[in-house]
Amino acid sequence: MIHIIGGGLAGSEAAWQAASRGVPVTLYEMRPDRPTPVHQTDQLAELVCSNSFRADQIENAVGLLKAEMRRLDSLVIRTADATRVPAGGALAVDRVRFSQAITATLNDAPLVTVERTEVPDLSRAGNVREPVIVATGPLTSPSLSAAVAALVGHEHLYFYDAISPIVLAESIDSAIVFRASRWGRDTPTAEADDDEHPGVRCAVGAQGDGDYLNCPMTADEYRRFYQALTGAELATVHDIDRERFFEGCLPIEVMARRGEDTLRFGPMKPVGLVDPRTGRRPYAVVQLRQDTLAGDHFSLVGFQTQLKWGEQARVLRLIPGLEQAEFVRFGMIHRNTYINGPTALHPTWQCRQDPSVLFAGQISGVEGYVESAASGLIAGLNAAALARGDVPQAPPRETAIGALGHYVSHASPSNYQPSNIAFGLIPVMEGAPRRRADRRRAVAERALSRIDEWRATLPPTNDAHANAPALLS
Ligand SMILES: Cc1cc2nc3c(=O)[nH]c(=O)nc-3n(C[C@H](O)[C@H](O)[C@H](O)COP(=O)(O)OP(=O)(O)OC[C@H]3O[C@@H](n4cnc5c(N)ncnc54)[C@H](O)[C@@H]3O)c2cc1C
Repeated sequence: MIHIIGGGLAGSEAAWQAASRGVPVTLYEMRPDRPTPVHQTDQLAELVCSNSFRADQIENAVGLLKAEMRRLDSLVIRTADATRVPAGGALAVDRVRFSQAITATLNDAPLVTVERTEVPDLSRAGNVREPVIVATGPLTSPSLSAAVAALVGHEHLYFYDAISPIVLAESIDSAIVFRASRWGRDTPTAEADDDEHPGVRCAVGAQGDGDYLNCPMTADEYRRFYQALTGAELATVHDIDRERFFEGCLPIEVMARRGEDTLRFGPMKPVGLVDPRTGRRPYAVVQLRQDTLAGDHFSLVGFQTQLKWGEQARVLRLIPGLEQAEFVRFGMIHRNTYINGPTALHPTWQCRQDPSVLFAGQISGVEGYVESAASGLIAGLNAAALARGDVPQAPPRETAIGALGHYVSHASPSNYQPSNIAFGLIPVMEGAPRRRADRRRAVAERALSRIDEWRATLPPTNDAHANAPALLS
């Protein structure tokens, strides 16, 4: 038996993997009794912000990570593939169908017991040293946070993230916005034509030539928006004693404070887009990405913000096409708790201070949905190995999933920052082609062949998991 605390992306993936190898799992999730400031449902693997799992090509590091996870039978990626919505070259999902499918699959899994309760500490009943995976995410409950800090012997580190607003599709002015993907890169037709997902085909077919809605701005409109943004009032966050934002997820107002053009070269960059009404590239653009399969909600891409809600409505309605926008959800700021991986973890995601405890997900010091699920995948396999009396293994470093574990356990501890997966974390390849795209493809192909070799060393999967009925329905 293994115990997994936290039914998010990491915990759900870990439960699936351990049960797939025939090891019984108890998965503890504190919602709905104990909500978090950002989760909105009682579902497992809820996506708290964007509905995107980012790029899906193996020449992109997160695309490679997903390809490896598919080969390791990842529940999260399999479910994402089954619930995808159009998003150019990215893998984005209908968030409701996604977490409902994962919840149903784990509820139905014979070896998984889901207990809806908060786990306040790391003690185990009868002091039995059954493996425990801590996968409680960036919003780990306070008492468990204290227990983790006591275990790893270090103060937790933290920074602050902010999330993007979502607007109601029918409130977007279709006479102003135009549909297009940057450089015309849409969801591949083969996926859109999949008979299993007629909704996807319908969304692409009916809406035409582009996965994003684009709100074009002239120079004057941009300047008016910029002035309003930099003058707007921020929400008060009580426990901020020093602001440390993740560079890849900066609030727009923080970016704007760096200079008038920073947003135009960041989330509002107009490159690769032509406004069909003018035949020209706009001065700046706000992109909206479909957030539900039905297409009734759109999120503002890269528009994380900590403005007061009333201020968000006022400022964001200055964006052409959003003058009458109705907000389904406003952006917000949140605390992100994570351990200092290099002082606390082995590449197997076991805790150095107590190897029967493993960490996975954002609390382990990775960043992002896919990375969280990837760490859960390996932690689940290794907790299962411990339960069987086998030796836990880390995947080869030449793979994206192995490189992630290596980074978390070997980076410099003095100024540790959670990281998304990047090619820079994977060892260079001797004799690799010089052209960047060719080099990346060669590294990716090496990684996929290593992951196949590594998978062959794993114990066989349990037949009861061969089909995941809930997610295929
Ligand atoms: C507001 C916000 C926005 C983010 N936006 C993005 C984004 O757009 N894209 C992206 O890739 N990443 C994003 N991240 C980062 C990260 O990828 C997500 O937080 C991701 O959900 C992490 O997965 P996880 O499994 O580690 O944690 P979670 O998905 O948060 O799951 C942890 C679970 O543990 C439960 N829990 C906590 N404490 C206890 C306890 N003591 N007992 C039992 N259960 C407990 C929680 O209720 C929760 O369900 C965001 C994070 C936050 C907080």
